[in-house]
Amino acid sequence: MLDDNVALVTGASSGIGAETAVQLAEEGADVAVAARREERLEDVASRIEATGSEALVVPTDVSESEEVEAMISETVEELGGLDVLVNNAGVMLLESVADADPENWRTMVEVNLLGVMNATKAALPHLRDGGHVVNVSSVAGRVAGATSSGYNATKFGVNAFTEAFRQEETENGVRTTLVEPGFVATELAEHIPDEEIRERSEQMTEQMDVLQPEDIARSIVFAASQPEHVSVNELLVRPTDQQ
Ligand code: NDP
Repeated sequence: MLDDNVALVTGASSGIGAETAVQLAEEGADVAVAARREERLEDVASRIEATGSEALVVPTDVSESEEVEAMISETVEELGGLDVLVNNAGVMLLESVADADPENWRTMVEVNLLGVMNATKAALPHLRDGGHVVNVSSVAGRVAGATSSGYNATKFGVNAFTEAFRQEETENGVRTTLVEPGFVATELAEHIPDEEIRERSEQMTEQMDVLQPEDIARSIVFAASQPEHVSVNELLVRPTDQQ
């Protein structure tokens, strides 16, 4: 269904991004995979190549705008264009405002928000008619909660940026999709700096029949494989037993 398409997935070294990259390849797209951990990207590239699609490994720190620009131009040069950009890279460094390390706030803003904004801007000149930007936000982009202020701020920011971008570019045939997952079993919570919050998050995950990365990948592939006149603008996907 995505034959002749080129996709680029950020945060493709694990979790949702890795599964999305593989599922896009299974649908026929050639896929560039970006993140910092190159070895993990190589593993994902092997899985992409096993589907018969072409893979490109682009080691990138999305918090560095020059690296983001290079990621886009390398993808376009090596794979011959860009049809689907999946801005998925993200970190969730949960802390209360009182205890927060402002460096963690900075990291989340630079990765979760500025990374999305810079990649979208750099990709835009290359997105052909029907080109598509998929931004992975979160339930935390719609509902704020205690100990999530910094993460909430970045994901609410992604939602606002995506809607404004949609209004600017929809008449040019550029499509946008905002994906808002609930709890997904990935490495995301392992990086929570506050031990108590990390343990609480792990307990919540154990009490639930949480989503798997493949579940969100399927939503992204669904949006990306619609006919050009169909723009699936928003997908909120929770585990059935998540409040
Ligand atoms: P993972 O931790 O498995 O994946 C996060 C990805 O982001 C990794 O590939 C990581 O790669 C990459 N990343 C982190 N920092 C950077 C950076 N500076 N530059 C480039 N890549 C970076 O977690 P998920 O798969 O869960 O997360 C994917 C997205 O889904 C995130 O945006 C997250 O906020 C969102 N999400 C996740 C939910 C969940 O419950 N898991 C719920 C809602 C949203 P590397 O370390 O190699 O750079």
